[in-house]
Amino acid sequence: MMEQAEKILQQYYGYPSFRPGQEEAISHVLEGKNTLAVMPTGGGKSLCYQIPGLALQGTAIIISPLISLMKDQVDALQSYGIAATYINSSLTTEEQRQRLWDMKNGRYSFVYVAPERFDSHNFLSALSNISLSLIAFDEAHCISQWGHDFRPSYRSIVPTLKKIPNLPVLMALTATATQEVIRDIKQLIDVEDTQVVNTGFARENLSFRIIKGRDKREFVSEYLTQIPNESGIIYTATRKDADQLHYVLMKKGFAAGKYHAGMTEHQRKQAQMDFVQDEITTMIATNAFGMGIDKSNVRYVIHYSMPMNIESYYQEAGRAGRDGEPGDCVLLFSSQDINLQRFLIDQSPSEEKKKEEYGKLQAMINYCHTHSCLQQFILDYFDDPSVTEPCGKCSNCTHVGEEQDMTKEAQMVLSCVKRMGERFGAGLTAKVLKGSSDQKVKQFHFQNLSTYGIMPKYTEKELTRFIQFLTAEGYLSPGQGRYPALQLTKEAIDVIKGEQPVVMLVESTTTKQGDDYN
Ligand code: ADP
Ligand code: ZN
Repeated sequence: MMEQAEKILQQYYGYPSFRPGQEEAISHVLEGKNTLAVMPTGGGKSLCYQIPGLALQGTAIIISPLISLMKDQVDALQSYGIAATYINSSLTTEEQRQRLWDMKNGRYSFVYVAPERFDSHNFLSALSNISLSLIAFDEAHCISQWGHDFRPSYRSIVPTLKKIPNLPVLMALTATATQEVIRDIKQLIDVEDTQVVNTGFARENLSFRIIKGRDKREFVSEYLTQIPNESGIIYTATRKDADQLHYVLMKKGFAAGKYHAGMTEHQRKQAQMDFVQDEITTMIATNAFGMGIDKSNVRYVIHYSMPMNIESYYQEAGRAGRDGEPGDCVLLFSSQDINLQRFLIDQSPSEEKKKEEYGKLQAMINYCHTHSCLQQFILDYFDDPSVTEPCGKCSNCTHVGEEQDMTKEAQMVLSCVKRMGERFGAGLTAKVLKGSSDQKVKQFHFQNLSTYGIMPKYTEKELTRFIQFLTAEGYLSPGQGRYPALQLTKEAIDVIKGEQPVVMLVESTTTKQGDDYN
């Protein structure tokens, strides 16, 4: 069976060999075992269901929440001479009826559908009456409530599906799954431990950078000037930012387009096409852009503001370098970004959801303040043990600076947090350490604490940043909820007791130049 799979790889697709994980995933499916494949973006997940779909008898059903991607996938399959189609709401009723009829008659090897299709009795009855090769759940993290993009309609089709008499082997594929999501998917679609193929999340061709304290517009203009002919995406947090930045860059003569949900469908389609066909090199967009856009030569992804969580960040940044060539992922951080994301989270009606989102936001903030390797930080977040070495090319790995022992300063901050009752955030703690006569300090009588004003030579801003660093490194935990209340962790106690040193990389005064571009 695997020989046949290899033959298909070479004959239909013209690829000499499998990529990591592909062979294993394909062989599980061919053995008839439900399989979960976790592979990074660009890792080649499509082939993992397409090859078994071709090798096995019957029709393969591919369920995907991304309507925009279906047409591309189907076009690609048809160009190889494979009978494939999609049925979704973008078609007229008559077209849907026709394709369903053809499906019933076994005319297709592949049928792509959106989860909503399973609400249709006609579709379910057609499904139950044909020979099926496999059913694949693309973007499978959407079926888990722990996923960052949970779609209840996606999850609810699984029990419906399991009732069909001719249920074939099931396959789930995703690029972003935490251990929780993996567990959830395994349980939901009955995947055994041995049938999980996880190649890890690491994208070795990407380099991550965080830029703080720079004028963002100026940074972007300089950046684009240096690489005028490379394709890239700039993500903004709001439509307004996208509009403004687009205006500024157009005025400066850059070939930039924009994409957000405030534009008409026609405008968005046009912008997307211009970008994919390299008519424009830079796309300025909100997170509405990207789901299902298959452009492999994206060289950079700049985040104009910090996104809401690491899942979204990694997915968006991961659109760089899908061809395996280097990709530059830059995040421009300013502390106002945090307020905006808090505001957005507050729009959610569910308290539980808010709490969860605040937790994820905190991890994102930590990412912006850690001094550890950024690639490793992300992989740790996803509990991915596959990479143990620092990447050597992120802005922290390449930072030119000096290690400075900050144990004493850390002890001061941590004791102050303790004395303030572990009920307040970084801002007020910084004020107390600085010795500010702010109203709120007086209100709580913090001027009487022994830690009041013990760090006068730092500015409040520096102190806030240092507290954020201590949080990112796991000495302080911000608690859950809207207003972070800093609490000491176990590691913090070790620091206070003098059993654990705190070392920080500080800007060395002599080697400052080139810092942002190396
Ligand atoms: P994913 O869905 O995991 O993001 P795709 O399935 O879109 O990735 O594959 C990304 C690119 O890699 C596609 O252009 C695909 O044709 C190519 N590809 C997949 N498998 C192989 C392989 N074994 N050898 C070479 N290229 C491959
Ligand atoms: Zn690194």
